Amino acid sequence: MQLRADTALRERAARVIPNGMYGHQATHLLPPGFPQFFSSAHGARIRDADGNSYIDLMCAYGPNLFGYADPEIDAAYIGQLRLGDTMTGPSPLMVELAERLTARIGHADWVIFCKNGTDATTMALEVARATTGRRKVLTAYGAYHGSAPWCTPVKAGTLPEDRAHLPHFLYNDIASLEAAVAEAGTDLAAIVASPFRHDAFFDQEEPTADYARAVRALADRAGALLIVDDVRAGFRVARDCSWSKLGVAPDLSSWGKCIANGHPISFLAGSDSARKGAEAIYATGSFWFSAAPMAAALATLDRIENSYYLERLNDLGNRLRRGLDTSAARHGFSLKQTGPVQMPQILHAEDPDFARGFAFAEEMLARGIYLHPWHNMFLNAAMTETDIDQVIAAADDAFPALRERLSTLAPHPGVVALMSSVAG
Ligand SMILES: *Cc1c(COP(=O)(O)O)cnc(C)c1O
Repeated sequence: MQLRADTALRERAARVIPNGMYGHQATHLLPPGFPQFFSSAHGARIRDADGNSYIDLMCAYGPNLFGYADPEIDAAYIGQLRLGDTMTGPSPLMVELAERLTARIGHADWVIFCKNGTDATTMALEVARATTGRRKVLTAYGAYHGSAPWCTPVKAGTLPEDRAHLPHFLYNDIASLEAAVAEAGTDLAAIVASPFRHDAFFDQEEPTADYARAVRALADRAGALLIVDDVRAGFRVARDCSWSKLGVAPDLSSWGKCIANGHPISFLAGSDSARKGAEAIYATGSFWFSAAPMAAALATLDRIENSYYLERLNDLGNRLRRGLDTSAARHGFSLKQTGPVQMPQILHAEDPDFARGFAFAEEMLARGIYLHPWHNMFLNAAMTETDIDQVIAAADDAFPALRERLSTLAPHPGVVALMSSVAG
């Protein structure tokens, strides 16, 4: 695999972009040889700056739900772009999209549109505090809610004061949550729940319905709001808020990533229990009212409501999980495949420093499959059974190559540094 163009771009980037790249896009957190730059993407595939094509199991870290460059969704986007996008005021589409989303999301009576998931989670805290007049917001240890000072996993440049009044509890552990609620006392504004545990580096963990009901009951008893951060999982595991599957309705839910199939829009949804707070805060952004992403979101919603995409993602995900397990076993390996099948986390047994995961990802990349060694992945509805079988065939070829490398594997310095900074 040639990465000449990519290498040249990295050299230029190193001079004009901090560290050459930042945040989750920094490929120094990935195995050596992973491309940093991509030139195009269609359906299930991405093409790097050197022209190598991969089946992409990351789906842009979530935003791509129906395949890259979906013709219908992109036509809606481009059509509105030509009519008017970022204008002095919003387009009528804003009201239509708000009506459609509040009709679709069971608990939602209103929405505020924004651009990134972090906008929506940060606003959720403000709305909860404005609604209750209280300060404390509980989040689970290790849960990702964005990159603002209150929630960024890397603390450089932030103050302890940014995280004041934000105590933690253990996900899926009622006793730990009860203790945190008791400690917050009458100052508890909200509990933030991830729909399931989807932390980087860890096996994913689905909550029980008992746990979800307990979270709701604890919030109610304390007079606090329940926030579900559905930025990553929203519309990928349900056609409603993810906790609707467990029969639990939050007061607030944050959404982003796939809601316009890759076009930039996110939103905070709320029930009437939180409307006063939503009306009290000052929320806005230069691009929050842009019309073209709203047109794309409407087209995406059409597809969510009128196709079997969810069932399809489930079938594809089950096929992938079964096929990889069979292949791993055939070659004497064991994978830890966790979470909803359409959002798979694939870690390796006996791999505390992720050295096996990194080597496996390298071997898969060399065989045309882009997968991630420590972050959960995403399937999209443009993938076919043939694509999934191609991934499994690549794994079947990659495992023997991994076996050959086992005695020479070493921990990757980038991931060691990231893990320790997150832990600290
Ligand atoms: C990605 C993500 C966010 C932040 O969204 P951005 O669009 O990156 O700001 C918040 N919460 C969860 C669960 C996420 O996965």
